[in-house]
Amino acid sequence: MTGKNASEIWDLVEAKREVFFALSDRIWEMPELNFEESHSCAEHLDVLEQQGFRITRNVAGIPTAVMGEAGEDGPVIAILGEYDALPGLSQVAGLAEQKPVVDGGNGHGCGHNLLGSGSLMAATAVKDYLEAHGLKGRVRYYGCPAEEGGSAKGFMVRAGVFDDVDIAISWHPAPFAGVNNPISLACNEINFHFSGRASHAAASPHLGRSALDAVELMNVGVNYMREHMPSTARIHYAITDTGGSAPNVVQANATVRYLIRARDLPEMQGLLRRVKKIAEGAALMTETTVRSEIVSGDANLVGNTPLEQLMHQNLERLGPPVFDEQDRAFAAEIQKTLTNEDIKSSFVRFGLKPRMGVPLCDTIFPPESGDGTLVGSTDVGTVSWVVPTVQMRGATYAVGTPGHSWQLVAQGKAPAAHKGMEHAAKVMASTAIDLFRNPALIEEAKADFRERLAGTPFVNPIPDDVDPPVTVKDNQVLA
Ligand SMILES: [Zn+2]
Repeated sequence: MTGKNASEIWDLVEAKREVFFALSDRIWEMPELNFEESHSCAEHLDVLEQQGFRITRNVAGIPTAVMGEAGEDGPVIAILGEYDALPGLSQVAGLAEQKPVVDGGNGHGCGHNLLGSGSLMAATAVKDYLEAHGLKGRVRYYGCPAEEGGSAKGFMVRAGVFDDVDIAISWHPAPFAGVNNPISLACNEINFHFSGRASHAAASPHLGRSALDAVELMNVGVNYMREHMPSTARIHYAITDTGGSAPNVVQANATVRYLIRARDLPEMQGLLRRVKKIAEGAALMTETTVRSEIVSGDANLVGNTPLEQLMHQNLERLGPPVFDEQDRAFAAEIQKTLTNEDIKSSFVRFGLKPRMGVPLCDTIFPPESGDGTLVGSTDVGTVSWVVPTVQMRGATYAVGTPGHSWQLVAQGKAPAAHKGMEHAAKVMASTAIDLFRNPALIEEAKADFRERLAGTPFVNPIPDDVDPPVTVKDNQVLA
């Protein structure tokens, strides 16, 4: 984007500073988990209404999902936000020592208070720009719940809510600013319920068939399989029902939950088939039965070179976020609670040379940086299989801060977090305006998208018969 247009859209972002810093802080103060985000969703709904968006509630049948649209005709650009928190991470804001607000309470340990507010900030500035210039085009803000293990965007994709979207843009809080190396793992979370027969473990052991034995044998089988799978794949498990606490009863029921991750959807689906065979083998060995049930799933992120280049150009033009001495002083206090290894690996992850004494981001990391071997999963991945998608990292916390940590929660309302959020909103907004002003860029992005996915049919990792585990009723989301 050229100078005048860029500074105009950035001014429009700045003009809404107070509204969105306050929104982010309110969301931080009401941390809500997966599919329970009734208050957080209502806050987003409220701001969407105030800012003049047309609103769709209960998106994809999920009461805590909301969509706001503005503008007329033209291409549709979606900006994706999130607002769910994590359990057990309650922490006092602005404090460099661990101290919960509520013992065992929730906390915004992934910065989703900033993620949702920053995306809505960008969407609002884009809306104001389209209005001021009479430009054709529609901007949408998707308030997406349940990213943390809930895969809400997968359910939203399945419901077709992105079908008429041309481009999707998102971001995530991070220690550094830059365009994501688009690597994340496809995953499925799946329960294996084993059923056997209870009996007295001493008086009639021969009559019992242990479901817990089946779980243990399944785990052994998967342990052997690990040697024979791609080195980038990951398989984790948790025994969620051991069948009871009495050793003198043969356990009739037991459940193990597996999380299977791989580089892409087809590879992950191949591993899933193998794990299911091992479960059947364990059932056969123990004369029990097994039933499996997918809980959630994300596709891997599909990159998009034209969009990544465009977003990177906008980042370069804006420069890294500007922090002050006070911001750096607090970040340095946080760094004292971290290990040198935390700090070093934070640089390495983003392809940067480790430097000590750098509390906050002072640079933009280069595109496709980092080796991408230590990555997790995100439900933005599923969106990227149906819409050309681009994502950036915004620098909102001290270099070295681990994800999902009390240190991250402690920084969620700091001035540096607000500055990093505004910075990301500016980059997302100016990228969107470039696309509206130059539809040929949208066509380039679509061509890249088609080329990457040619010959690989999309199979949503969430099967048709799985419903989102919704706990909130639509009328509980007020605004
Ligand atoms: Zn996150």
